[in-house]
Amino acid sequence: MRLLLLSVLLPLFAGCAGTPRITAIHDPLYRAENHSSTITARATETRDGIAEITIEAVVGELTACSGSGFSLPSLIPCRTGASATGVVCTFANVKTEVACSLPLGLTDRRLVTYRATARTARRSASSPSVTYAGGAPLTQARIAFPFGTITVPWETARPVIWRTDAPSSATDRGDKIDWGFVPDADMPTYRAFTDDLQPMVLPLFYTDTNSFSTWTRVWKDVFNVWAGPTGGDGEGCTRTFAAPASTVRAAFDGTAILHRNAFRDCASISLGGGAGTAQTNLADAPWVLLHEAGHFLFGLGDEYVGGGNSSISDPKNVVGSKGSCESTSTTFGLPTSQCVQIGSSGTWRNDDGQDTTMEDRTLSSDWRTLSSKALGNHLSKCINGACY
Ligand SMILES: [Zn+2]
Repeated sequence: MRLLLLSVLLPLFAGCAGTPRITAIHDPLYRAENHSSTITARATETRDGIAEITIEAVVGELTACSGSGFSLPSLIPCRTGASATGVVCTFANVKTEVACSLPLGLTDRRLVTYRATARTARRSASSPSVTYAGGAPLTQARIAFPFGTITVPWETARPVIWRTDAPSSATDRGDKIDWGFVPDADMPTYRAFTDDLQPMVLPLFYTDTNSFSTWTRVWKDVFNVWAGPTGGDGEGCTRTFAAPASTVRAAFDGTAILHRNAFRDCASISLGGGAGTAQTNLADAPWVLLHEAGHFLFGLGDEYVGGGNSSISDPKNVVGSKGSCESTSTTFGLPTSQCVQIGSSGTWRNDDGQDTTMEDRTLSSDWRTLSSKALGNHLSKCINGACY
């Protein structure tokens, strides 16, 4: 396990002298109507300079995978009628960051996959493939029988950032954390939901510079991000899911209900199939989203006084006794002297005194002590092909 992790980490942090660094992202991340989508790739290489960036894209129609022959429609989409497009940008061996863009006009039920490659005179590097949906979503599917075809109402999960070059219901997602987002009943429109989704997700995985988002930015390739249809409703710690959200969220490892009305956010303590709420118009909305995800994606408990001080993570970040905290801490190489009771709750945690995301509502928080160990273990499971 350690070796495997090391072999993943080394290329990330060591890199190779002269190898370009390349990232690519599409904008907007998701919009369920006709729109202009722009894929932008940025590359840097300071020794030889960037000579070329290419963006290759495949665009086709999103389907529910129920094509010819009898097959039930799927929640994870397929693509049909795919065609390739792309752009090549050339540069005079530029040693500062350069960018290249591919605009796409997206209409009903588009499914796009892209990958960007940067070249110097000597080396090249590519970004991992990303698949996303755009345009009006699928709302019905055809099921073929020997005696004919019927059409049924149907919705699929809508890929926002799906890390695959082969979109299909058969694509293995075991090594990914499939994080779904659905609108709350208080969202004025679906467009308002997709507009609010972007400034929640983009900082967490790409653009934020605070320490709370370091883990998600470093490990972003482990996450698939999905949007779901309406039907979700949260208020305080009560969450309900009606169709079609209730059906589609079965495809997710955890679901965030995005809302605008003010209420205190809350989440289930889950390792698969959980959900929580996140208010999009808070100044620190991405932080709150990540804290709630600590509960519903990673099974972590609150470490602050008065929170939900129970945990199902591995190891638990909140335990029932001082002795249990000390033995867990010893197992994971943490000082037993850091074991402290959470107020007078009778529950215990390992506290190194630094801001930690399950306790301290500040952008300088991080996953620390037993929370950090639990996330490391979860990541190992993903790398071994079974996040959940
Ligand atoms: Zn909490």
